[in-house]
Amino acid sequence: MTSISDLMAESLRLLRLKGIETSRQELRLLMACALDIAPDEIYFYDKDLTENQLVKFETFIGQRAEHCPVDKIIGHRGFYKYDFEVNCHVLSPRPDTEILVEEAAKIVRQNNFTKILEFGVGSGCIILSLLADVPSLEGIGTDISEKALETARRNAQRIGVEQRIKLMLLDWFDQDILQKLGCRFDIIVSNPPYIPSGEINLLDREVKDFDPLTALDGGKDGLRDFRKISGLAGQLLKPEGYLLFEGGENQADKIADIAVGHGFNLLKKARDLSGIERCIILKK
Ligand code: GLN
Repeated sequence: MTSISDLMAESLRLLRLKGIETSRQELRLLMACALDIAPDEIYFYDKDLTENQLVKFETFIGQRAEHCPVDKIIGHRGFYKYDFEVNCHVLSPRPDTEILVEEAAKIVRQNNFTKILEFGVGSGCIILSLLADVPSLEGIGTDISEKALETARRNAQRIGVEQRIKLMLLDWFDQDILQKLGCRFDIIVSNPPYIPSGEINLLDREVKDFDPLTALDGGKDGLRDFRKISGLAGQLLKPEGYLLFEGGENQADKIADIAVGHGFNLLKKARDLSGIERCIILKK
């Protein structure tokens, strides 16, 4: 019988041979899921794998060999302080996005804000993290995908904030979006699709084959949705309200210019852990 550590080492070798970037930590997550235990428990697990567990683990390695990201194989991912359900209907939460949550949480606390709106929630990782951090906050999240909204609803329950969020099926290009959203907000956050259409093909397979295209494709120059959302935000925010965007590499200045053109003031561009200006903070 092969030991768990031999099996993991062999799988890691196999995946690397196929050119799949995989870490030991990822292997541990896949093995823990196959064994139905917490990842840390692997170190103390001294039983042999059952036939079922082995088949499950080998299936996972097969999926990973086809470039499926680990979170989409095991169905969840840690982001910021919480753990979210993830599937093929939502963009996988990225560590790069945590800076947006950190900055938004600071602003919400400092100003005692109570009303937040997120355009394009996907899994819900941004707005739900903020609601979980700040118990006095309530909000609305939109998405154009019913399946994404279902995922976000389950995530709201998973982290216990479902009473304070309304999730709405809305397209920000709808004519009547302002009427549908109705009330005014203290803060609006969004990580809209921002990859230029012509660059989608250059993305890693983990991204282009497994994240929804609607969450990635930002039109010809990648900035289409920042233009639209900046215009809406100006009308939906209270005076002195905040608008926080996530953008792609080298987009921060262009995004800031767009929002400034809609009457916002640029307060700050915050860098992610790789040093990229990822989060653009604007005030009405
Ligand atoms: N950060 C994602 C990527 O680079 C893109 C997400 C988005 O378009 N909002 O793959």
